[in-house]
Amino acid sequence: EAKRQHDFVFFYSEGLDEQHLRKLDILEHLDYAAENDELTLLLQPKIETQSGKTIGAEALLRWNSEKLGFVGPDEFIPLAEQSGLIKKLTQWVFRQSASYLRHLNAPDSFSLSINLSAIDLLSDEILSVIAELEKDMPALNRHLVLEVTESAIVSDPDAAIERLTWLREKGYQVSIDDYGTGYSSLEQMRRLPVTELKIDRAFVQYLVSSPVDQSIVRSTIQLAHELGLSVVAEGVEDTESWEWLKKQKCDVLQGFYFSKPISFNDFNNRLQGESCD
Ligand code: C2E
Ligand code: CA
Ligand code: CA
Ligand code: CA
Repeated sequence: EAKRQHDFVFFYSEGLDEQHLRKLDILEHLDYAAENDELTLLLQPKIETQSGKTIGAEALLRWNSEKLGFVGPDEFIPLAEQSGLIKKLTQWVFRQSASYLRHLNAPDSFSLSINLSAIDLLSDEILSVIAELEKDMPALNRHLVLEVTESAIVSDPDAAIERLTWLREKGYQVSIDDYGTGYSSLEQMRRLPVTELKIDRAFVQYLVSSPVDQSIVRSTIQLAHELGLSVVAEGVEDTESWEWLKKQKCDVLQGFYFSKPISFNDFNNRLQGESCD
């Protein structure tokens, strides 16, 4: 109560706007979110295009703050990246993902994708958290996919390529997320030691009605396949898009048409249901 009043005074005397106060609030509470049990990792199914079967999942972070209520990742992740707090969150995501992998009723080919920001990719913290988790789970590399955005690579391509190469040599799969939005050149794509390309939702959303988007997606799939990469289309919301992407030989799909991000228990039930089909 006292703090609220203080903020209020601060707001008028220092000319700080509401947005800035919101940021400070988020950073203050986010610092303790992991310790306070306020974070959850939801799972969104990744679907094999041809069969419609769940072959993996993407882990997506959720924060339900006692003080601020539900805060979306599009709001808190950029702030966590600016402040460096992201490293702490990512370590939590790694540990939680390893625990999920141990407890899922999934086939041996199952893979779980997690999101890494530019800071994570270049930091030494991910090296130590990976080493720690591999002690209990030597097969972690066969089940974990690391999603990295184009923009994370463009900021320092040489350092990023070195780290990605290290991850690949350790047996981890690496995916380029939000492909098409980050201005990476074809030359860079060719140099990247990645295994998967995820076409950004912006190009998938209006696929059925947009010939331009169809051209972009078709040629991206072709390029990726020529480079030996698996292709994921994200943001699939209708059966027509699924049919079209199937015809174009897109490998994997993700989107609300199949499922929104769901809890670990719901996801596990879904896997069990499918294995009985
Ligand atoms: P992203 O990595 O591109 O994740 C995909 C986002 O698209 C997710 O939003 C997902 O819920 C949403 N999505 C999936 N299918 C559909 C669809 O069919 N239609 C629509 N409209 N949306 C769909 P979400 O969970 O809100 O996450 C937003 C972003 O926050 C992520 O984008 C990612 O950049 C970031 N993020 C989330 N969790 C983490 C994390 O653990 N670490 C990091 N570094 N970033 C994260
Ligand atoms: Ca992602
Ligand atoms: Ca994405
Ligand atoms: Ca995105």
